Amino acid sequence: MTVAVTGATGRMGEEVLDAAAERGVEVAFAVAPRPATVDGVQIQDDDRFAALLDREAPDAVVDFTVPEATVRYAEACAERGVPFVTGTTGFDEEELAAVEAASERTPVLKAANFARGVQALLRVVREAVAAMPAYDVELTETHHNGKRDAPSGTAKTILQAVDEARVDAADAAPLERVYGREGHDPRTEGQVGVHVRRAGDVRGEHEVLLAGNDEVVTLTHRAESRGVFAAGALDAAEWLAGRPAGWYDFEDAL
Ligand code: NAD
Repeated sequence: MTVAVTGATGRMGEEVLDAAAERGVEVAFAVAPRPATVDGVQIQDDDRFAALLDREAPDAVVDFTVPEATVRYAEACAERGVPFVTGTTGFDEEELAAVEAASERTPVLKAANFARGVQALLRVVREAVAAMPAYDVELTETHHNGKRDAPSGTAKTILQAVDEARVDAADAAPLERVYGREGHDPRTEGQVGVHVRRAGDVRGEHEVLLAGNDEVVTLTHRAESRGVFAAGALDAAEWLAGRPAGWYDFEDAL
């Protein structure tokens, strides 16, 4: 198994390099906007990504960067049929459509969260909402102070799961998303509050609160190291290599 790593000088890119070394996955090449050396791995200029794909033909690419770069990498992988795993978040509609289009020509696995515990949390959230469809739901997420997008991609995935579970359980309409509250702003029926905190080096925490009927249920996931995401992304890459073109998510790989 060989992987190419993008954004290799970033927080997640470095974790992926470490996780690959730990499990004996060979790094075919690694790129970032500025060449560097990370833990003895030579990081090459990002401009050379397509040429390196041609030369090294990795079994998969693992990408944690920014949406505009992810689109470019996905297109280069699609042209060559190289499996593409991305954990990048914060896409607008056009960028997401471009990555989806790439999946018509090569296998693409996109996940906002590569922690196994978050996949379990999603299942538990669906079950809790189905059991308590009339309860108020509030979501709080916390991440490090360098995170660009808000709310997190994982928060959006959880909100989607809440809406789907409400539709299935009670044929209820999707909840109106209210981002923080200020001033005279009482809660009304059919809302879900979304609260975002950015501080220090918090790896990622998501809490779903359900309340009603004089009771409160809180479901929390906290990532305690970024290695969790890197390991999940490499599991996904190993699973994706050799699959037919298509759009996959982390749950498929699990
Ligand atoms: P980071 O800022 O530490 O690293 C980003 C990397 O991308 C850096 O190497 C940077 O040089 C590179 N980069 C930035 N702009 C670029 C461009 N225009 N072209 C090419 N490369 C560029 O960020 P991070 O904390 O490593 O997170 C990266 C992404 O991964 C974010 O979208 C984050 O939300 C997401 N993330 C996902 C998961 C998950 O499990 N899916 C977990 C953590 C982070």
